[in-house]
Amino acid sequence: MDLKVFEFNMLPTNTYVVWDDGGEALLIDPACYGQDEQQILARFLTSKGLKVRHILCTHFHFDHVFGVPFAETQCGIRCEAHEGDTWWAEHNADEARAFGIPYPGTPPTIGHPLADGDVIQCGTLDFQCLYTPGHSRGGVCFYCAAEGLLFAGDTLFAYGGVGRTDLHGGDYGELIHSVRTQLFTLPETTMVYPGHGSSTTIRTERMFHNL
Ligand SMILES: [Zn+2]
Ligand SMILES: [Zn+2]
Repeated sequence: MDLKVFEFNMLPTNTYVVWDDGGEALLIDPACYGQDEQQILARFLTSKGLKVRHILCTHFHFDHVFGVPFAETQCGIRCEAHEGDTWWAEHNADEARAFGIPYPGTPPTIGHPLADGDVIQCGTLDFQCLYTPGHSRGGVCFYCAAEGLLFAGDTLFAYGGVGRTDLHGGDYGELIHSVRTQLFTLPETTMVYPGHGSSTTIRTERMFHNL
């Protein structure tokens, strides 16, 4: 297994590519904004000879999905996300403008719905979808037990942070419940890759949250 992180767009948002030894890949939160960032992603996938099997969205906030339409065209597949974020799919252009960001092109829609417990297979890698609402209604994390990896979106950040809950569909109590029941129950050595900022572990974050 191998993994690459890109920081894309002005917010800046993490885009992850993870692939198995046969070059079968998952693309998580393609956040590339504009042609230059699209080409950085495309060139990387080509240079490694990766075959993207799934485009996964931890949630549908505009900063995480700017690059979804490009990735869908490039890879010939639709994105996967939780339908709890349908409101965001319908309002992303307006919401981006409210942040002073002109929306590039047409915002994506949810291609395939994800639900808690879904298993996403990619070559020899299996990822489990964990439903973690609170930052948004449709927040999910992707967990690979065999590799001890978690892609946490904006549910959990390094050094004691959690996602903001003041945007549409946010709920602080629900977010903390998601973190405690879905994430802090994972093995302590699990590596956590958030939607913004650096990686961390479940052990470190449990310490920050005094658990
Ligand atoms: Zn978000
Ligand atoms: Zn974000």
